[in-house]
Amino acid sequence: MEPRGTKRGAAETEVAAPRSKLHSTAPSLPTEPALYSGPFPFYQRPSELGCFSLDAQRQYHGDARALRYYSPPPTNGPGPNFDLRDGYPDRYRPRDEEVREGLDHLLRWLLEHRGQLEGGPSWLAGAVVTWRGHMTKLLTTPYERQEGWQLAASRFQGTLYLSEVETPAARARRLAEPPLLRELKYMGYKFEQYMCADKPGSSPDPSGEVNTNVAFCSVLRSRLGNHPLLFSGEVDCTDPHAPSSQPPTCYVELKTSKEMHSPGQWRGFYRHKLLKWWAQSFLPGVPNVVAGFRNPEGFICSLKTFPTMEMFEHVRNDRNGWNPSVCMNFCAAFLSFAQSTVVQDDPRLVHLFSWEPRGPVTVSVHRDAPYAFLPTWYVEAMTPDLPSPPKTPSPKD
Ligand code: GDP
Repeated sequence: MEPRGTKRGAAETEVAAPRSKLHSTAPSLPTEPALYSGPFPFYQRPSELGCFSLDAQRQYHGDARALRYYSPPPTNGPGPNFDLRDGYPDRYRPRDEEVREGLDHLLRWLLEHRGQLEGGPSWLAGAVVTWRGHMTKLLTTPYERQEGWQLAASRFQGTLYLSEVETPAARARRLAEPPLLRELKYMGYKFEQYMCADKPGSSPDPSGEVNTNVAFCSVLRSRLGNHPLLFSGEVDCTDPHAPSSQPPTCYVELKTSKEMHSPGQWRGFYRHKLLKWWAQSFLPGVPNVVAGFRNPEGFICSLKTFPTMEMFEHVRNDRNGWNPSVCMNFCAAFLSFAQSTVVQDDPRLVHLFSWEPRGPVTVSVHRDAPYAFLPTWYVEAMTPDLPSPPKTPSPKD
């Protein structure tokens, strides 16, 4: 579907520009919420195609070994009292964020499973391949006022691959991360450790390390409007007691947030945090987000489950709230914009889509380093062997 007020797919080209200037008027995509407030677009129920795990050394395994099991404290007990600062910093092994993985782990999964994809090679040729986290950023763009993004796009054998590029501002923020923010990130992972067991039926063990190299990733298939999607996202845990044991409906997303005391604090939470939580979990079809609320001393004292499909109700009647239709219509418009901008099929060619708050999405074109992101091992494995030259000498020799 097309968003209101953007009859030509929302990609505004300055057609009225004088001829001499035409070559310099690059297309761009506006991001104002009002432009995307039509009806909710078609979004196919996401289905899980497979999964993979990353271990404590960030090594890939094509199985579910890193999947954890939802194991909340008993509801008839005294209530949680999780010390999120326990183990910090000595039992914290954070992932090395200098290592730019791009889409590599997802591409490895795709390479190993491309023969089993329903719909065959022609389905993949029409699809967009990316991380769920990149799509989350697209969904929240019309409402985001703080952080911009850059997405590198390459077309290869028809498929459009999207991989995030760290903006200079994001890199500067990461390198100058305030110690308190580093600790707050640890606390989010520590909460997961208090809530998850390594095996179904066993109990969480908060005595070990928090190693953020470890990840369980679900690979999902869906479609937004006429855009087939294949994406992967990290999943916190599965609920052994979920009404349906079928992924992704058995998955649970875990979050922490500051304890709130006033209606104003709740309003701000619904407007800002719940938007991000909704976007992240709606995309892969994760039905519930379990929030732990922490007090100023860093203890979780209460838990609350937010069903993904009920989150919008908290802002439905809020003039300054968010709207799922806007998020999804914008995402669909961006995918159309990207599909029509990236025309050449060339894994070394990159269209870099850049966005800063209060502006449109703009595009620049690059070749090879530093923006090209499809690894040689992937491109070569996906390229059918050229007929090899004759090995026997020809009569002319
Ligand atoms: P999310 O939705 O932002 O958590 O990201 P995804 O679930 O799409 O994860 C994509 C890949 O990025 C996976 O390999 C994750 O392990 C990794 N990842 C998730 N969160 C972070 C993060 O905060 N920083 C970095 N560098 N990688 C992350």
